[in-house]
Amino acid sequence: MVNIKRVEKNLKDFEKFSATPGNGCSRLAFSKEIKDAGYKLVELMEDANLTVTKDLCGNIFGIRKGKDSSKAAIVCGSHYDSVYNGGNFDGIAGVMSAIEIAKTLDENNITLERDYIVIAFMDEEGTRFGNGYFGSRAIMGEVSQDEINNFKDKSGMTLREAMENYGLDPDNIKDARWDDKKIGYFLELHIEQGPVLDQKKIELGIVNGIFGMQRYMIKVKGRADHAGTTPMNMRKDPMDIATKVIAKVADFAKETGEDTVATTGFISAKPGGMNIVASEVEFSLDIRSIDNDVVSEVYSKVTKLLDELTSKVGATYESRQTMDVKAAMMDEKLMDMMENIAEKKNYSYYVLPSGAGHDTMIIAKYHPTAMIFVPSINGRSHSPEEFTPYNYFEKAIDVLYELVISLD
Ligand SMILES: [Zn+2]
Repeated sequence: MVNIKRVEKNLKDFEKFSATPGNGCSRLAFSKEIKDAGYKLVELMEDANLTVTKDLCGNIFGIRKGKDSSKAAIVCGSHYDSVYNGGNFDGIAGVMSAIEIAKTLDENNITLERDYIVIAFMDEEGTRFGNGYFGSRAIMGEVSQDEINNFKDKSGMTLREAMENYGLDPDNIKDARWDDKKIGYFLELHIEQGPVLDQKKIELGIVNGIFGMQRYMIKVKGRADHAGTTPMNMRKDPMDIATKVIAKVADFAKETGEDTVATTGFISAKPGGMNIVASEVEFSLDIRSIDNDVVSEVYSKVTKLLDELTSKVGATYESRQTMDVKAAMMDEKLMDMMENIAEKKNYSYYVLPSGAGHDTMIIAKYHPTAMIFVPSINGRSHSPEEFTPYNYFEKAIDVLYELVISLD
């Protein structure tokens, strides 16, 4: 059956495709490291008897032909890029697992009715250009020329230039789009990246949905004054307002239920002097929940408090939305099937939402999708400390393998 030693070896071999070897995985989009990783993936896919294609946005996919390729395929995979100094499991473990399923089908001489396609997505993290889900959006036809021309990395290089240097064809990005009928089911295995499964000592997570997210930059504008001479009741102090609002962000999230999270991770003040009442304070707001309405509800509580506090002293505020991603629900039939397989095999599982975004979230808008999590020890991820014991992978791959056969 599934050969977990092989998966372990492949994952360890892959640690070298990093710009920071020994200090976690730094494999950014359209970099030398990801190009080298791509060559190795082609090798592994060919070893699993897959027919390999690289598309014009850097995705790599390997096809195992079924008896009737006109039927919509079962597609399985994840991303092969990483954040700066990330872990060696995020994304790539899902790609290796999908390859292992192909290899196991091959070793068992199983020819499916449908095509089974392994996919390794380019640039899910968006670390370099600040966009994200690039490869999965490209195959769904969601990448625009505008994005390619205008998104830049830290050095000022545009996404277009980076793609051209990599030998890709940004002008024809529309051609990366897959036919609407090509995907029958999309399956992704991923590390949880949070502490829930590890804390509960549960082997597998069956994802019921991926959080929707709204992000804002909020600027409170008041008036700069002397910190010594201006009496408290004569100030328009944006710091006083902003900090009162920020102090309520966590409470607003908690009031709506345990699955909602809200975060202010950035704050800056102008002019920024110890003896000056600030003229302007800017802070970020990131709200996520499995329920899109709840995200909007938390945001409206924030703006209501801002309205109230600014109007009291004659200050103002501006709120600029920087991201709006709707929650994605996983296919219930596929969830049921995974639960049945896990029960039959006596694997412990827990149904949970994903707080992190994934390529699955993009595909789920168009096709039935399923996602399985393995525990992250101490919930650590996006860090060199990221780790998942291989026996968890073995069970998760086994569930997906059985799922592929049942779906076929
Ligand atoms: Zn990931």
